Amino acid sequence: MADQMFTAEEVQEGIYMIRERYYESSNRANIWLIQGSTMDLVVDTGLGIWHLPSFLKERGLIGEKPVQAVASHVHFDHSGGLHQFEKFAIHQLEAEAIRKGDNFQTVTIFFGSGEITRPPHEGWSLSDYKVRSAEPFAVLEEGYIFDLGNRRLRVLHLPGHTPGSVGLLDEEAKVLFSGDVVYDTLALIDWVPHSDLSAYIDTCRRLRNLSSEVDIVFPGHADPFDGNRLHFLTSEFIEKASTCRHKLFTVVMKCLSTMILKAKHSAFTQPSQHSESDYIAGSASLLHKAISFLSSKSSREIHHKKEQDIAIKSLLKEKDVLAVLPTGFGKSLVFQVFAIITSMDSVSSNGCVLVICPLKSIIRDQIEEADSLGLNAVELESPDMFENLPRLPDIYCICFGRSGVR
Ligand SMILES: [Zn+2]
Ligand SMILES: [Zn+2]
Repeated sequence: MADQMFTAEEVQEGIYMIRERYYESSNRANIWLIQGSTMDLVVDTGLGIWHLPSFLKERGLIGEKPVQAVASHVHFDHSGGLHQFEKFAIHQLEAEAIRKGDNFQTVTIFFGSGEITRPPHEGWSLSDYKVRSAEPFAVLEEGYIFDLGNRRLRVLHLPGHTPGSVGLLDEEAKVLFSGDVVYDTLALIDWVPHSDLSAYIDTCRRLRNLSSEVDIVFPGHADPFDGNRLHFLTSEFIEKASTCRHKLFTVVMKCLSTMILKAKHSAFTQPSQHSESDYIAGSASLLHKAISFLSSKSSREIHHKKEQDIAIKSLLKEKDVLAVLPTGFGKSLVFQVFAIITSMDSVSSNGCVLVICPLKSIIRDQIEEADSLGLNAVELESPDMFENLPRLPDIYCICFGRSGVR
């Protein structure tokens, strides 16, 4: 039965490209099986809706030797089937997400029911689908070696698409498994919630330097390509990603994708790396500095209210905040202070604030006010206007509505 759920094609001796037959989507990931002399390795595992190990066994592709799986990164289209393997590995920065079954970090929403053309069983529903929690057997870092006997695959930590993205390099065979870091398209994904554009550019520089030592790349999506193409794709990305226009695009897309995902996975909670008291002490001092800065720019002393204080401190704790405040209460102060804090040297973020307004006239007021406070704010009319901006603004305003008077 499982025999029919996937397709398998031998693309090089001992390397198989496997795909989920009934997942018809541009998100359908490639699954790679690398047969070694002493161990087999499965690179990425698909959605986990159909049982991959059973398929591999029924086809006689695994079974005699030990087998391990490895995730190129945490996204659902690659990590969904990890739980089906007794031994699997994932980068240390994404191990916790799999342990917890964190479907925000696995971006599980980017997936529609029409894309599953044959459900795994009667009564199956997309709403039941989740990446399941599982315990990794190995937690990866740069330089980890998968020793398959006749092949050795070295882990390259390639952050950018996600923080824990990895590539696997077989230096002797000049083969690279690249996951979603690079595949044969000019639209690589650098805008999902945990993506990091500057890390992605560095990763592409690293891969471009490596391209002369790679004969073939087996990517996370689409078809394999050679080292010259790797050089071209990484160069194109570096050039495009360095423009202001592209930076703006990723910020807007990241805001939107984060909002959609958080709405879907409302139970999501950010794992805290600091104690609650660290946060309270840290955010109080940042808030104090930002308010003093605003007061110095303004002709009057600025005092913030309790509701604004709660909203800003919650934002600093990376919590989702829905603040319902009356007209004239001072909603703007919340994001103005937040924009100042994110631009402070002590905050390791090059973030910005995206304001979505129903009326153009409100945007004009917001921009004037931000200017008077020394913040750099711009209105997004068309992405083209960012082509020549020297740097990213602190605040973007987008109008979703009619231009006109209040
Ligand atoms: Zn991905
Ligand atoms: Zn993917």
